Amino acid sequence: MPSSEGPSVTGTVVWLAGIACRVLCDDGELRTVPLPPRREQGLVAVGDEVEVALSAAGPLLGVVSPRRTFLARPDPQDPRRALVIAANVDVVAIVVSVVEPPLHPRLIDRFLVAIQLGGATPLLVVNKLDRLAELDDAGRAEELDKLAPYRAMGLGVVVCSTRTGEGLADLRAALHAKTCVFVGHSGVGKSSLVNAFDASLGAKTGELSVAWGGRGKHTTTASTLHVLDDGTRVIDTPGVRAVGLWSLEPRELGRYFPEIEAHAGGCRFNDCLHEIEPRCAVKDASARGEIPAARYETYLRILASLREEAAHAAHEGRG
Ligand code: GDP
Ligand code: ZN
Repeated sequence: MPSSEGPSVTGTVVWLAGIACRVLCDDGELRTVPLPPRREQGLVAVGDEVEVALSAAGPLLGVVSPRRTFLARPDPQDPRRALVIAANVDVVAIVVSVVEPPLHPRLIDRFLVAIQLGGATPLLVVNKLDRLAELDDAGRAEELDKLAPYRAMGLGVVVCSTRTGEGLADLRAALHAKTCVFVGHSGVGKSSLVNAFDASLGAKTGELSVAWGGRGKHTTTASTLHVLDDGTRVIDTPGVRAVGLWSLEPRELGRYFPEIEAHAGGCRFNDCLHEIEPRCAVKDASARGEIPAARYETYLRILASLREEAAHAAHEGRG
């Protein structure tokens, strides 16, 4: 990669589609930079700090700096490989809603594992608080009780409503001046949240598609980094829908469940997976209610799915 020869400038990748990216350079210029044709998938992602070589023929992609953190999803071609979809992310906001769609703890857990693998800080954002009014007291309690295990494990939780505006200031404060990504099922209110932050974002996305030679279809698969007035950076990427799990060893899974890890030292076997092993301190603790049953069940389910993935990969001759 070109680096030391000729003039170059560093910057942040703020937009990326199939064949090119846009780099907001430290000299204030926004430069469109072609991507190498047969580049490795995930070589560069929105949020990456890169060097741009200013050659006579136009800007060229130089060195990509090592990432502080990343958000990745499994490669559809090979689930054991991770494709980075956003780089240098501080906070990944897992957006869920109450009532419709209802809170789905297992989905939250899978996102948590994926986020922690990349080193970003997860934040749980519970939207549509206004809709709790439709439920009776028991229904409300049932919905909100699902949050207790996450609060207990120290995860930041913001409850809000884009309808009433409740909690939005808290969310803004939690994300202030950070680089963040919103993940979650469709229909939970991710776009509404981002628009509540900055109503001009939709318009800005439109501008980019116009600037890109009017080839609007690129915008549907483009990833974009938006800078809000207060310096908060929001990465919007179509890849978030597929954020999941990949190539995690069953033995490593416990690390992503702090409340399980806290008891693992008491297990009879060092390599205990807390499943069927005898004298397992984790199983005992969950039987005593010291580990929330929902979290332990989630752990077991993810463990089983990792094993299925590994078996599948071995069958395909990759493992
Ligand atoms: P996304 O698919 O996650 O981006 O979700 P959207 O932002 O498109 O929102 C999905 C639907 O939920 C839309 O009909 C929104 O108007 C609605 N919605 C979003 N936030 C709220 C909220 O706080 N309360 C209620 N009642 N509806 C909301
Ligand atoms: Zn154990």
